[in-house]
Amino acid sequence: MKGGLPAARVRLEKEDMPNPKRRHSVSRKGMRRAHDHLAPVQVGECPRCGSPKRPHRVCLNCGYYRGRDVLRFEASGGANEGA
Ligand SMILES: [Zn+2]
Repeated sequence: MKGGLPAARVRLEKEDMPNPKRRHSVSRKGMRRAHDHLAPVQVGECPRCGSPKRPHRVCLNCGYYRGRDVLRFEASGGANEGA
């Protein structure tokens, strides 16, 4: 084995790449895309103020997360006095 591969073998042209043998039918495309949808947004409840909030995120109403205040609100809002 002397010398490298011939230049034609080394260079992978696009037509040498693996390609599907047949096109997929409209039905198959639909079956594949049956799972291509966005999941509905999960909504939980803030344990402190009870307003709806997304899980594992700071409550935007009172700034509470995992036992402490995370957000500081401007005085004009006054939302930090949540129940
Ligand atoms: Zn809250």
